[in-house]
Amino acid sequence: MQTTTHHPENNPLLDFSDLPRFEAIRPEHVTPAIDTLLAAANAVISDLEQKKNALSWDSFVEPLENATEKLSRAWGIVGHLNAVVDTPELRATYNENQPKLTEFWTALGQNLALFDQYKALHAQTEFASLSAARQRIINNAIRDFRLSGAELSDDKKQRYAEIQEKQAALSTKFSENVLDATNHFSYIVEDVAELKGLPEEVLQSAKNAAEKDQKTGYKFTLHFPSYFPVLQYADNRALRETIYRANATKASELGGHPEWDNSGIMQEILQLRKEEAALLGYQTFAEVSLVAKMADTPQQVSQFLQDLANRARPFAEQDLQELRQFAKDELGITDMQAWDVTYAAEKLREQRYAFSEQEVKQYFPEHKVIAGLFRVIQTLFAVDIQPQSATTWHPDVKFYRIEKEGELIGQFYLDLYARNGKRGGAWMDDVRGRRLTNTGVQTPVAYLTCNFNEPVSVDGVLKPATFSHDEVITLFHEFGHGLHHLLTKVNDLSVSGISGVEWDAVELPSQFMENFCWEWDVLQHMTAHTDTGEPLPRALYDKMIAAKNFQSGLQTLRQVEFSLFDMRLHDDIEPNSSNLVQTILDQVRNEVAVLTPPEFNRFQHSFGHIFAGGYAAGYFSYKWAEVLSADAYAAFEESAQQEGSTLSRTIGAKFQAEVLEVGGSRPALESFKAFRGRAPSIDALMRHSGMTLVAA
Ligand code: ZN
Repeated sequence: MQTTTHHPENNPLLDFSDLPRFEAIRPEHVTPAIDTLLAAANAVISDLEQKKNALSWDSFVEPLENATEKLSRAWGIVGHLNAVVDTPELRATYNENQPKLTEFWTALGQNLALFDQYKALHAQTEFASLSAARQRIINNAIRDFRLSGAELSDDKKQRYAEIQEKQAALSTKFSENVLDATNHFSYIVEDVAELKGLPEEVLQSAKNAAEKDQKTGYKFTLHFPSYFPVLQYADNRALRETIYRANATKASELGGHPEWDNSGIMQEILQLRKEEAALLGYQTFAEVSLVAKMADTPQQVSQFLQDLANRARPFAEQDLQELRQFAKDELGITDMQAWDVTYAAEKLREQRYAFSEQEVKQYFPEHKVIAGLFRVIQTLFAVDIQPQSATTWHPDVKFYRIEKEGELIGQFYLDLYARNGKRGGAWMDDVRGRRLTNTGVQTPVAYLTCNFNEPVSVDGVLKPATFSHDEVITLFHEFGHGLHHLLTKVNDLSVSGISGVEWDAVELPSQFMENFCWEWDVLQHMTAHTDTGEPLPRALYDKMIAAKNFQSGLQTLRQVEFSLFDMRLHDDIEPNSSNLVQTILDQVRNEVAVLTPPEFNRFQHSFGHIFAGGYAAGYFSYKWAEVLSADAYAAFEESAQQEGSTLSRTIGAKFQAEVLEVGGSRPALESFKAFRGRAPSIDALMRHSGMTLVAA
């Protein structure tokens, strides 16, 4: 007898009629669905390979997009579930299928017949009459075929394919090691006296976590909402050191678990990237990475980062000097260590600005924050956001629809809380993109994922989740990505929403949205004290603003350090030594850092952005795009001088039309100029960061 999973019509991963059927999807559906979709896509491809005459958008690009979109959507669901509800069964099937996907995409990228057809499409006289978006899709495709090795000889093609497959497997293993090392660590404190300084709700969470394991005492883990408050608030220096060490050495040779050590994996990934670059005729992987980005050369990026470091250094030195002095005078810490920095900084902030993050947090209960966020979006972009029912992967996940004048334009899932089996951090990902098909418009759908603290139960009563101001900023950030994906008006999948946007411009909408978290009128509508219901008082707001750029010199240098480390790592032309990663990191720190982490710090072993994400030779994108986002926001500040609020529908409409709606259909620099009327300038970023006073 056949089981139901063998009937394609019963496999929920093959149902593309609307939203994913999360209630029905099981690990055993993955392999049959992926095999079916791969076979279907390959059939379309071999059909198209034969096509010689009457080549057109409709007869060639459209069917190819149809075939690959289904595969991407199904695999996107599997990848998402693997990231947010990791189970051994799901992980096994994910890993089993991933090589097939990599093999498929690599083969497609190297398909010489299809490459020739794209070039033929480009050479036709009809090319000029295609929309700008479609011309860009064809141009991007030709570029990507070259970058995928389509022009290589057969033996080199095969090696290129092997490299891709290996890299994908190594990246997955890198993430798994970080997740396993994070999940495995726990530290129980029995005596509450050792936890002095920690806020009540952190204690309560730690107590609940221990109870969940049928233990007494307080359980701390390496999940951000658990370990970070220890570093920030715990008076117990030894405890801070224990937690800091565990976090700073996880997934490394010092982590105590050789099976999760990422050292060899990093080395191997870098070697493979170097080889890939050489195959494609480039000197370094950094050069490959920049082909599709706004920035032109590794030298240009390094220069940008060095310039930023030079501007920030005097401020960073002053920040550090103050912190050391304060730690010595007020906390009796004469030899400030890495595990003292966050703690001392929080104490200095409390003293100087007379408030704590904990105090601020009481004003940001979840429902109020979400309502305040939606109000900003609705005012700026004249859309309406409403909850909608949908099946999801976890009971805590919520679902919403965005409408404009009664018409559905997009939907999103919101998964806010940290939990075991969920990858750390915050991100936006697409469920499907906007496109116009012969049955009408397919509206975009997004996943918005965060790792905030869940509501805490105190004496059996569930208190609403409250967010720190930093978390609120993170939420706005991810919604910026979400809006870019959801408000698009582009009709062609490959450049609609965030698709086809240069990587170093992707953070423009996200970092842009962060700015609203500092506006008085925005905060008035998004705060209510958990006990009194009062909105954020003006006095506390003024203190937050005064403290906004607290230690921004140090923070800027830290970002520059990560970015430069990433760039150098991928722009290195020497053969890889066994200690390349640490050597380059040390060099970069010598050049730009004023605060050097302890020798045992292995942050790079969990630097997933560059070893398991898409940020390799691209981490600089955050700072690069921040120049754009700060300058874009300055347009709202300028209008606020007349209108009294940055929530300007007029400027909002312009930003919507010139940046958000056009997605990847034209170069990001053109979009920026169309919005701002001029090229971007770094001035707004320096001003927003409070780094404009020095005459250097
Ligand atoms: Zn982002």
